[in-house]
Amino acid sequence: MTSSDEFREFGKAMIDYVADYLDNIRDRRVVPDVKPGYIRDVVPERAPEQGESWQAVMADLDKVVMSGVTHWHHPQFHAYFPTANSYPAIVADILSGAIACIGFSWIASPACTELEMVTMDWLAEALNLPEVFMFKSGGLGGGVIQGTASEATLVAILSARADKSKELPEVGLEKMVAYCSAQAHSSVERAGMLAGVRMRLLQPDENFSLRGETLKAAIEEDKAKGFIPICCVGTLGTTNSCSFDNILELGPICNQEGLWFHIDAAYSGSAFICPEFRPMLDGVENADSFNFNPHKWMLVNFDCSTMWVKDSRKIVDAFNVDPLYLKHHYQGQIPDYRHWHIPLGRRFRSLKLWFVMRIYGLEGLRKHIREQVELAKQFGEFVRKDDKFELALEPSLGLVCFRAKGSNELNEKLNKSVNEEGKIHITPAKIRDSYILRFAVCSRFTVASDIDFAWKEINRNLELINATD
Ligand code: PLP
Repeated sequence: MTSSDEFREFGKAMIDYVADYLDNIRDRRVVPDVKPGYIRDVVPERAPEQGESWQAVMADLDKVVMSGVTHWHHPQFHAYFPTANSYPAIVADILSGAIACIGFSWIASPACTELEMVTMDWLAEALNLPEVFMFKSGGLGGGVIQGTASEATLVAILSARADKSKELPEVGLEKMVAYCSAQAHSSVERAGMLAGVRMRLLQPDENFSLRGETLKAAIEEDKAKGFIPICCVGTLGTTNSCSFDNILELGPICNQEGLWFHIDAAYSGSAFICPEFRPMLDGVENADSFNFNPHKWMLVNFDCSTMWVKDSRKIVDAFNVDPLYLKHHYQGQIPDYRHWHIPLGRRFRSLKLWFVMRIYGLEGLRKHIREQVELAKQFGEFVRKDDKFELALEPSLGLVCFRAKGSNELNEKLNKSVNEEGKIHITPAKIRDSYILRFAVCSRFTVASDIDFAWKEINRNLELINATD
């Protein structure tokens, strides 16, 4: 297909397909009923030598693709954490695909860099971040869109490592140590491995919150053994239970001890645009870097992981290599984002942030967050009022951790039974050796009657288990 006329037809047909898909998504099974390797049975052995029509490709979508899709935007998808989906973001990605620039430096596409700087300042303002994190402060702070929270954490640890090596050039990597809670996302431990730095997982308190005294004791212990603490990653909204590390305690300790303090709020961060949730972010002023994923809960399709730093020189110094072929006349006057992240190439991701913030408006985004929190509360009340079940923890933002009263084995059976039926999808977690079920409000299509339905399904499955045991 080479002509724009054909592209217009194909594109319009695809927009209709996407609109129909999302309009009717609730009629599908949430999780597909396919077995590993299923696709080999429905596609030819080799790629076609001659190009096919777009109509032929469209005709195969249901058989090949949709039959094996887990529908993350189904109103009964309650697993993991949400991933965002909105029409403005989808449309922005079409434009990004058309411009198809690689914005590694300002001159490589000035709009790509500058729209990112402006939207990151807009979002920083919406979060009420201290001005030191914004470009408009005229200082060293600013924001960058990373692909994922995992990359943001890695960038933070690599920057901390480079910063410490500059201060203490004689110290080898084997002496460096970083900290996070044992409840931090696995990507934090992994970032330590990738950076070649030992990551100590510290025990949080009874509310799954990493406390200052625990960090302080670990730092003292390591220093006494001759180790050099370089970084601490605090989590706001842990994956298991949406718990919050005490960043008001952790930050000042990091500042006193010369540790880089990174905050990972991958899921919860979107909520901080609502004034009533913003206090959860108090203490961010002591952080060196802060990250959250609008691609989780702020209606910006994957990938859009926003990271702010106080002193961009520290990340630029950690990653700066400057070959002649990438130099340009305005270098130094405006960020060249290739120095702010791991790959060289970068898509025009700020387009979708811009479209979403403009078309929903901050009020529209707050409404989305508030509605989802209310739905989680509704589910939490069902659990609280039913004496066959118990809350493992108080509902936190859009997540409810609960379990059927009884053994871990019973709850494992319940999880399996619910998910095998494919009508609703939930995921489990282990906290305090207890097998719990996580119910996350994920889809923007979920409404109160879906929460009713999910609760009835969970009850029905428990009755089935009890009847057969
Ligand atoms: N941090 C937390 C707290 C998370 O919940 C997750 C994913 O759910 C991540 C990090 C990893 O996110 P990403 O896929 O953007 O790397």
